[in-house]
Amino acid sequence: MKIDIFKIGSAILTRFNPTPDQIELAKARLEICSTCPSLRGKATEESGQCKLCGCFVKSKAFTPQKNQCPDGKWSLPEDKYIKYKQKKTLI
Ligand code: SF4
Repeated sequence: MKIDIFKIGSAILTRFNPTPDQIELAKARLEICSTCPSLRGKATEESGQCKLCGCFVKSKAFTPQKNQCPDGKWSLPEDKYIKYKQKKTLI
């Protein structure tokens, strides 16, 4: 399992100073995690952990980046709340 300190740090920073949209996105992601068989524990508790990536989902849910669920389950709420481009292009 690869640990990306930048991604972890950006999720933690966002969690402690979120915009209203980031709060709504985190709630939507945690609702998905709460019904996911890959979740160990409860999504609403600090110890709730994804068995696929090893992340603690209560903080990871605030990541400002798309496609961070290893099972691709967060794409629906991310499409609604994250509008900016994820890849650099010329335009
Ligand atoms: S991050 Fe994705 S795979 Fe992991 S518990 Fe949440 S919904 Fe499931």
